[in-house]
Amino acid sequence: MTEILQISQLGNPSLRQQAKPIDNVRDERIQKLVDALIATAASANGVGIAAPQVAESYRLFIVASRPNLRYPNAPIMEPTAMLNPRIIAHSTEMVKGWEGCLSVPGIRGLVPRYQAIEVEYTSRDGQLHRQELTDFVARIFQHEYDHLDGIVFLDRVESTQEMITEQEYQHRVIGQL
Ligand code: ZN
Repeated sequence: MTEILQISQLGNPSLRQQAKPIDNVRDERIQKLVDALIATAASANGVGIAAPQVAESYRLFIVASRPNLRYPNAPIMEPTAMLNPRIIAHSTEMVKGWEGCLSVPGIRGLVPRYQAIEVEYTSRDGQLHRQELTDFVARIFQHEYDHLDGIVFLDRVESTQEMITEQEYQHRVIGQL
C-alpha cells in the first residue's frame, strides 16, 4: 500500500528552502516519492502538492486538477508528476484567483498569477515535456513551482484584506470562480 505522508505546515523550515534538482528521475526512491505524493494529495483533497511540503527537498511536484470538495470547479486531469520543472515563457496578463494550500490550512488568499505559461518538465518515465498551460492548471503549476523556491501563496497576496478563512470562502466564493 502506498504511504500517506505527513504534510509540513506553515512555519516548518522545509517550506522555506530552495529545493534541489533531481539527477536520476528513475531512482527508486524518487519513484516511491511520486506515488506517495499522488496518494497524499488525493487523500487531502489537494489539486497539487510539492515535494518540499512533505519535507523532501526535491524539484518535484504533482498537478492533479479535478473537481473536489476544496475546488468544485476544477477541470479533470490525471495526476501528473513534474520533475525539474521550468517556466520558459509567460503571458503578460495576470489574473487574480483564490488559492489555498495544504500547508496553510484554514486560509484562502487572492493571488495574482500569469494567465498562461509555457513550461518544461520531465515526467516520471524520464521524458522531457514542453506544453502550454492556462487558467486554473497554470495557477496550480505556479503555486507548486513556488514551493520549490521556498515561497508560499501568502507571500504573493497583495493585501491582508485579500485573505479570508476557509469557512468564509466556502460561503462566499465557491460558485463564483
Ligand atoms: Zn501549496
